[in-house]
Amino acid sequence: MAETEKGIRCRGCGCGHFSVVKTTRAPRNRVMRKRECRHCGQILVTYEAAAGEQLGGELDELTPKQRESLLTRVMQLLGLG
Ligand SMILES: [Zn+2]
Repeated sequence: MAETEKGIRCRGCGCGHFSVVKTTRAPRNRVMRKRECRHCGQILVTYEAAAGEQLGGELDELTPKQRESLLTRVMQLLGLG
């Protein structure tokens, strides 16, 4: 289930198919993955536990609007927004 991308949706076309274009270490034993939509090229960033455990559960507790603003903020921090 490590590759499950539940809850991740492209903001460009709404699909859930991404390829990982970059994986980097993040604080607090996390791994940051930069993903690119296979359909429209929209970039989004996810954080996962280093062991491979997805943070999807935490993200799912957010409302879509909260998740959107969180992702927007991360993208801005990374200079992608
Ligand atoms: Zn897309």
